[in-house]
Amino acid sequence: MLKKMFSRRDFLKSSVVFGATSLLPFKLEAGMMRRETNSSSLQTTSPTGRMIAISSRNGLRATEKAMELLKQGADPLDAAIAGVNIVENDPDDITVGYGGLPNEEGVVELDASVMHGPTHNAGAVASLHNIKNPSLVAKLVMERTGHVLLVGEGALKFARAHGFKEENLLTEKSRRIWLRRKEILSDRDYWYPPKSDELEKELQDYVSSHGTINCCVLDAQGNLAGVTTTSGFFFKIPGRVGDSPIIGAGLYVDNNIGAAGSTGLGEANLLTLASFQCVNFMGQGLSPEEAGLRVLKIVAEKARLWPERIDDKGRPRFDLNFYLINKKGEYAGVTMWQGRKYAVHDGVKNQFKESAYLFKRD
Ligand code: ASP
Repeated sequence: MLKKMFSRRDFLKSSVVFGATSLLPFKLEAGMMRRETNSSSLQTTSPTGRMIAISSRNGLRATEKAMELLKQGADPLDAAIAGVNIVENDPDDITVGYGGLPNEEGVVELDASVMHGPTHNAGAVASLHNIKNPSLVAKLVMERTGHVLLVGEGALKFARAHGFKEENLLTEKSRRIWLRRKEILSDRDYWYPPKSDELEKELQDYVSSHGTINCCVLDAQGNLAGVTTTSGFFFKIPGRVGDSPIIGAGLYVDNNIGAAGSTGLGEANLLTLASFQCVNFMGQGLSPEEAGLRVLKIVAEKARLWPERIDDKGRPRFDLNFYLINKKGEYAGVTMWQGRKYAVHDGVKNQFKESAYLFKRD
């Protein structure tokens, strides 16, 4: 029976991979699809030997680590994950993993996804509690299940089954910020703030705080992979899932084309499947910067239909950022509003760069 299950699973897994590859190269035979109509089918770029690791503005240590591993010949997904693990483990980054700001009930609730270009496979977890490296759990979902996304209690049980250590992810700093936020939320409830205002500054900074880390990489063989991991929105409604664990929204990789990941308002991304669109536009021949800006423009146009999310000039009141690499090793960071940096290691130098933007700040 066990053997039967294994062989069925092996079959399923290989048919997933086979199914994905079989969709790809219709090759350039006469009368078949043209480049404009099926982007993923016609990428002929061969590896350039360039290695790139790109990340969000909190990811300079991640790109450093990812590049170190790429240079040692690591699998691109392992390299990207090892990079973001540094930030997941850092209690001072209050937007990811351990020390991430909690939901409105004071519980840290994490989302993450990974995608591996060479096998066109992905794994993700959402609303995961008590495990500080959701990216590693997401990778196991990809490798050790026939599923792509596990959520909540199911994701936690799966992580436990694989021996992940459970711990309270709420640091003292995050707890204090959460409590203070609760205390000042309304003057019609029974929660009173303390007399001293020691947390006032932090609250100004964190009251609507959100953040995430994405890291996408290209290895010397031309293989791509990516990971996105987050604690989502501070004070979110318990159970809220953002874009980060949704393949096509917070992350998308097509090994024939490129990779894109996202940070910023997850809801805007979920309504537009923006990372998928970034990769798709790169597949149509746009550069990473052109593709990212094109997608931001689409999002900004849709945002006009969301009155609570636009300013009096009809422009988005939210951030949205993409980190893109194509198969040739060209890359870009793009952002809705001027003034955001991203981290990139091009094999020689690890640095912050200014993102291309759609709107200039007034
Ligand atoms: N995209 C994340 C989410 O919506 C948050 C962020 O990147 O700031 O959960």
